[in-house]
This record gives sequence, C-alpha cells and structure tokens, in this order.
Amino acid sequence: MTVHAHPDDEASKGAPTLARYHAEGVRTVLVCCTGGEEGDLQNPSLREPGQPFHGLTAEEEKVKVAELRPGELAASAAAIGFDEVVMLGYRDSGMADSPPNEHPDSFHQADLDEAVGRLVGIVRRVRPQVLLTYNDDQTGYPHPDHLKVHDISVLAFERAGDPDWYPELGAPFQPSKLYYSAWSRRRMVAVHEALLARDGKAPFDDAWFERPDMDHRITTRIEIADFQHARSDALRAHATQVDPNEGFWFALADDELRQVYPWEDWILARSLVGPIPDDDSERDLFAGVRTSVGSDR
Ligand SMILES: [Zn+2]
Repeated sequence: MTVHAHPDDEASKGAPTLARYHAEGVRTVLVCCTGGEEGDLQNPSLREPGQPFHGLTAEEEKVKVAELRPGELAASAAAIGFDEVVMLGYRDSGMADSPPNEHPDSFHQADLDEAVGRLVGIVRRVRPQVLLTYNDDQTGYPHPDHLKVHDISVLAFERAGDPDWYPELGAPFQPSKLYYSAWSRRRMVAVHEALLARDGKAPFDDAWFERPDMDHRITTRIEIADFQHARSDALRAHATQVDPNEGFWFALADDELRQVYPWEDWILARSLVGPIPDDDSERDLFAGVRTSVGSDR
C-alpha cells in the first residue's frame, strides 16, 4: 500500500516499483489523500484550438482541471497496475501559506487523529505487509499535503496494530515494514550526465543540485529496468498536470533510462521482520516478509 498526497504523485514517485510488484502478483493499493483541487493547468498545449481548455478564463480552467483529475488518476493507476485506489477524502491544501491552506475541508486543516483514523481503517481492511510513504525531510518540496502524508502514515503504521486506537475501525493489523520514498540525487546526476553526453545540455538547474542530499539514507534499491513505462505512461495520463513536451519529465526515453538508471531508491524506516540495513544493500521491499509468511503458515 502506498500513500500519496495528490493525483499525479503516484506517477512521479514509485510508479515503476509498484508496477513491478503488481506484475509479480502482489496486491497493490494506492491511497490518495486529496483530489488535487488546487492544481493549475501545467500543459499549455491543452489551450490550443480544439483542446478542452481553449478560450477558458483562469477560473474556468481551475474548475475544468478539478473536473478532469479523477479520470486522469484512474488512467494513471491503470497504467501502473494498482488493484485498488482509495481516496482519503480531503481537499488539496494548495502551496504553503496560500489561502486554500485555510479551507476547512483541506488536508492541512484536518484533525491529525481523525486523518490517521481514516488511514488506519484502510490499513486494517487491506492488511498490507508493506506501507510506502513520503520521507520526513520535505525541504526540497515543502508542500503542506506532502508533509501531512508523512505524518499520518507514520502514525497509522504505529496505531493500526494497536487495539487501543480506533477500536471501532476494524481488527488491529500491524504492517511489517514502512518505507519512505527518496529523492535520489544519484538518479538525478545519472540522468543529468546522460543528457549532457547526448545533447550537451540538461534541464536541471542549480536549485535541483542544492536540494538536500539523502542518498546516504537509502537502504533499498529496487531493480525496475522493465517497468520504466509505468512512470512515463502514468505521467502522460495526467494530461492537465504534465506537459508531454517537458524535458524535465521526458528528456530520456524509457529505454535510455533503462540503461542510465534501472533502479528506484527507497529508505526502510521501520521493520518488524529484521534489522534495517546500514547501507543500500536491500533489493526487495518484501525481504523478511516473504520468509516470515512462508515459515508461519
Ligand atoms: Zn503532490
């Protein structure tokens, strides 16, 4: 089970890993905490004649984006191979310190215990062995909804198995492992260098290189060479949010990425099935889980 803030986050973070495990027969569930109501149109080609945003005012665009996002999320989830998508039911809080932060239905305003309870209810029903969420260091992109995804996931991991919490929300269930997605500097550097070699230029500006480096925290590298398409297909499914001509997302084709960086990097944050590696040697999100399932049953 993976927890994300907005429709499109599931495409940009972890999609190949989820596709790989789905292909192996693992049941994969996406929890999306908000509907992405504050997203702006990021794809200018949709304003051209004959396209759905042609001639719309800024306010009309906003309404149209909110209207289209559920369908985009469904298409993205299908491209990745999620078995189920669950909306946590909050409103997008918008960027930090913007007026939508104050909206009473926003994820930012949600009572923490209430929001954790919603996630605990889903965990107890789905019973995931592995829970994936955002890491604690969001300084690279401090969106209030991303921070809250981390906060509620960590607490849900702790409380889902505790019978004293939310006794009305189903039988306690304790997931075995909690992972954080990692912004991988070495992946960015690999892509950057490949583009410099191919084109003589790359789309990453200095701000990207100034992001806090968390590579030393990476414990787990998942080989996803055959699943790069999950990311690119899912990103393209979010047509209002992702410009298909944007070099930032698509400068390298899937088969080039496969050569350049056939991995996704994760941080194992909690484990009830063995020690957390002090290096990046783990190669399977279900390491320890597979053996414990096999020996116990
Ligand atoms: Zn987001």
